[in-house]
Amino acid sequence: MKTIILGSGTSTGVPMVGCHCRVCRSTDRRDRRTRTSLLIRTDAGKNILIDTSTDLRIQALREQIGSIDAVLFTHTHADHVNGIDDLRGFHFIHKRLIPCYGTTDTIGRLLATFPYIFKGLETEGYAPLMEAFVSEAPFDLFGCRVTPVPLVHGPTSSTGYRINDLAYLTDCNAIPEQSLTLLAGLETLIIDGLRYTPHPSHFNIESALEVIARLQPRRALLTHLTHEVAHLDGERLPAGVELAYDGMVIE
Ligand SMILES: [Zn+2]
Ligand SMILES: [Zn+2]
Ligand SMILES: [Zn+2]
Repeated sequence: MKTIILGSGTSTGVPMVGCHCRVCRSTDRRDRRTRTSLLIRTDAGKNILIDTSTDLRIQALREQIGSIDAVLFTHTHADHVNGIDDLRGFHFIHKRLIPCYGTTDTIGRLLATFPYIFKGLETEGYAPLMEAFVSEAPFDLFGCRVTPVPLVHGPTSSTGYRINDLAYLTDCNAIPEQSLTLLAGLETLIIDGLRYTPHPSHFNIESALEVIARLQPRRALLTHLTHEVAHLDGERLPAGVELAYDGMVIE
């Protein structure tokens, strides 16, 4: 299984429009962050996408993704779903309905916001692109064990995913005790680290490090980063913890 960080940036992306801070002006390509998303390439060559970020098109072109075989949705904030239309290109090529998975709440919101994606639009000759499945319990997908992990995201919730020994926990500021039990013995943990300053719906770097210290993965990556954080700051993180960057590959 190979994992690619498609996007490591917060909802505004980095650089942020209108900003001239040191990180937004940085020439380090690792400080250029598209909206948070992940690609898992299974041993059988299937591509599992986590979220359809606002930057999906640019991410798919950059990584030369040839097809999307399934999508796991974490929640329905705009930065995680608004690239959903960019799946149409894949559909033109492979003509298959792309299965997507999420909680009852997430799937319900997607169906309400993007009805044409799931039902098509006959009057305009628009074929449906996706098929939705509610998945709140562990399931098998292309030979991978996928475990949805309920997370607290400020006043709302999101879903992390454990895929075999890798866990992806974006957009969260707390992990319920029951979810912690799903995260034992991780090889890799990719977790929301946002920025230094505290935030009501995201872990900041300090609180993400507390989670990492508790879960003890072999390797941990911080993602969903804002322009408060320069990639080079990552050198000050504890051993085994790194800042994620766009295009980073985890084998
Ligand atoms: Zn987000
Ligand atoms: Zn900035
Ligand atoms: Zn969010």
